[in-house]
Amino acid sequence: MKMKKVKVLSPQVAAKIAAGEVVERPASVVKELLENALDAGATQIAVETKGGGLESMRMTDDGSGIESEDIETAFGRYATSKISDVEDLEDISTLGFRGEALASIAAVAQVDITTSVGEGTVGDAVTLKDGIVVRHVQQARPHGTTITIRDLFRNVPARLKFLKSTATENSRIAGVVSQYALAYPEVKFSLNIDGRATLQTAGNGKLMDVVIVIYGLETAKKMLEVNGGEVGWQAGEAVPITVTGMVGAPSINKAGREALNFFVNRRVIGSRLLTRAVEEAYQGLLMQGRHPIAIINITIPPAEVDVNIHPTKAEVKFQNERAIFSTVQKAVRSTLVATAPVPQIEEAQKPYIGQAAVGTRSLWTSQNYEPGAVPLPEPAPTVRMTLPVLRVIGQVAGNYIVAEGPDGLYIIDQHAAHERIMYEQLTAQKASRGIQFQGLLEPFSLDVSPQQDEMLKLDVGNLRDFGFTIEPFGERTYLVRIIPAVLKDGDWLEALREILESPRDKTTNVEDNIIKSLACHSAVRAGKKLSDDEMRELIRQLEKVNLPQTCPHGRPTMLHLSIGQLEKEFGRA
Ligand code: ADP
Ligand code: MG
Repeated sequence: MKMKKVKVLSPQVAAKIAAGEVVERPASVVKELLENALDAGATQIAVETKGGGLESMRMTDDGSGIESEDIETAFGRYATSKISDVEDLEDISTLGFRGEALASIAAVAQVDITTSVGEGTVGDAVTLKDGIVVRHVQQARPHGTTITIRDLFRNVPARLKFLKSTATENSRIAGVVSQYALAYPEVKFSLNIDGRATLQTAGNGKLMDVVIVIYGLETAKKMLEVNGGEVGWQAGEAVPITVTGMVGAPSINKAGREALNFFVNRRVIGSRLLTRAVEEAYQGLLMQGRHPIAIINITIPPAEVDVNIHPTKAEVKFQNERAIFSTVQKAVRSTLVATAPVPQIEEAQKPYIGQAAVGTRSLWTSQNYEPGAVPLPEPAPTVRMTLPVLRVIGQVAGNYIVAEGPDGLYIIDQHAAHERIMYEQLTAQKASRGIQFQGLLEPFSLDVSPQQDEMLKLDVGNLRDFGFTIEPFGERTYLVRIIPAVLKDGDWLEALREILESPRDKTTNVEDNIIKSLACHSAVRAGKKLSDDEMRELIRQLEKVNLPQTCPHGRPTMLHLSIGQLEKEFGRA
């Protein structure tokens, strides 16, 4: 084949290619326009879209507006009013700074903008087609900007093909607006999709009010306030990290990670580091494969974070990832541990409404850190949620222990409760003396499948730390000589099988999973008849654990029916 001649692309083609980096889909336009409105100091932002954003999108803000003589420049590539020097990149306090959005949008859509800076000026109306100004007239309006985008990607058929259904694009648009609404509770957002009012926030500065709009009242009632942070020192200068926001009680959770919202210096970002930090804080509180709801605001000095690593600014790079990780993990963990409520048969918890204090930020604990020399994240301090002293009444259906406390009736799932006890005991043992083990009278010969074989090779060291001594003995055959002592009366073979077959990825905490399997298979089975003494002993041990209300998989261990609730049920109250 004959090579084609090398040519420089025309400016129009080059602009369309460049636009693709910033404007991937309608929701990316919404994101860029929202950021511009917020940078302009808007207190009210209205978004309207039609046809999944492809037909039209309109954003109206009451921000500063653009000076008449700057409008056409603003649509040029790398045109920005927000930074002027390379050094400014070190200290970015605005959401925009690349000066690419308006140029990119104008390259792939028709744009109409009306804007005014107020103060006695009239205002301007400008139309661009294919990135070129085709109309610029005076038009009166109050200060602020309205920008209308039509026929997005009409001139880029290849891009159009990759878009999903209108419904998918609409849901992405709603997702973007929701995230900014959560990040800026003091701004009044509205979103109208194809004539339907989809979202409307109050703009009163209360995060809880935004949470109610976005996740609903029932979820909002189960949100817990996060308020934490640390001060580190670097080259003699204080580096404060504050973490505020809200997280859901473990009982509200999702199949996906869509309800994890991270804001760094009020910029919406995605971050695997922060996802891991939050999910680790829920360790032992959620069932496998479930994900929490979280709104996490991180405030750090701008120089501590590089926001210029991604064309759409969707990710950031922290100078000190470990400090961020551990501060977020601890702040969330201590919220969860301090407030874990006993599940109630009827809702008796006070809703958290009105307690969200977005403005109050506190710094606690100080810790020195140097980049690269930060101690590994430690578990957050655990606040004990002790049970009151309970009097055992009896067992129901071979699995539920019924007990009386100072405030009513407790119904305890014997297996789940014992699992929690074993989980905490084993975790403590592992951390201090190590797991106790027990030799088998005769070695057990274990045949494994090829997949199990792979896992076993990978895990053999870990398993030894947990009390399993397993030696190779021919092709896919092993000899088990020693097992964890807690499993001597339980089904150690089943526990081992579960460990070798548990699904895992990079985020899996293998040790914690092993402990969960040991706890599950050493705990008393559901259906086992217990004597009064055995039940009393179980309750005594449950009184001693840190988180008596959930099993290690996040399921409840008990229900509480208060006297007040009983009286209400019987019509006495
Ligand atoms: P950036 O936000 O990175 O500066 P943009 O292309 O998004 O780049 O915007 C270019 C410039 O246009 C901004 O720097 C700002 O001065 C101006 N601008 C854009 N949108 C608005 C708006 N809604 N209100 C006021 N000024 C705006
Ligand atoms: Mg911008």
